[in-house]
Amino acid sequence: LEQALGTALQAERSRNFKPTLPGGLTVGLSSGTTGRRGVFLVSPRERQRWAGAMLARLLSGASVARLLNPLAPPLRVAFLLRANSNLYTTVQSRRLRFVFCDLLQPWGEQLQQLNALQPDLLIAPASVLQVLARAQQQAALRIRPSQVISVAEVLEPDDAALIRQVWHVPAAQVYQCTEGFLGYTCEAGHLHLNEEWLHIETAWLDAERTRFQPIVTDFSRSAQAFVRYRLDDVLHLAPGPCDCGRVSRRLVSIEGRSDDLLWLQDNDPRATAAGVCGRAAPGNGAGPG
Ligand SMILES: [Zn+2]
Repeated sequence: LEQALGTALQAERSRNFKPTLPGGLTVGLSSGTTGRRGVFLVSPRERQRWAGAMLARLLSGASVARLLNPLAPPLRVAFLLRANSNLYTTVQSRRLRFVFCDLLQPWGEQLQQLNALQPDLLIAPASVLQVLARAQQQAALRIRPSQVISVAEVLEPDDAALIRQVWHVPAAQVYQCTEGFLGYTCEAGHLHLNEEWLHIETAWLDAERTRFQPIVTDFSRSAQAFVRYRLDDVLHLAPGPCDCGRVSRRLVSIEGRSDDLLWLQDNDPRATAAGVCGRAAPGNGAGPG
């Protein structure tokens, strides 16, 4: 465990995310918003499987056609995040150009890099997508992605609307964290739990059984046992089946970490403190609603 933690922390410090542990194991750190840092291990085989599943879920029909057409230019993917991982670069191939943009680098460089790359897929945390959309409005950014995908943070409705307005594409969401690939937006535009892969139990937070914390078991993992792992996230379940025909459950929204919630008098965690209060704070631009 010490060796794994050392490798992961060294990668964060040096911004070189390539080193692996003996046996090719990739190490990841959970975001640790509560101060607890988890260490996650992924084997090369699990990495390949993850990359395949991610591409299968994420790429639109047009993007797959482009990927499979040897005469078309490679599909360009820009991925903006705080930390890269061997996990993400596994998708790199002759037909897919994957470029990681380190969010700790100066902002001007990010815009330059994106303008030069002209990504077909733009993948970034919701808050970064929002800033990029504003840069596009001001013509500092000039890209025309055919798919925009929000990761790592909750995508708020006003950010989704801004993305649609600026790039004329709907924003999809990937619910992925170090703990695994937990959910994705389907063709009908709804966020599904990745129950094809994971066994997800519900720790209900309200009497109406609409909000819960997921308890995740992943039977496909062998490098590290992943059994009944309770996440801090609070998920809002959508009723009824989805138009896309999948039987996996779908979500109205990911309401953030349980630490972000305001518990109101009726014990209904309806208000997300970080989201609602953050936006309503003076000087924060957006304002409530
Ligand atoms: Zn669906």
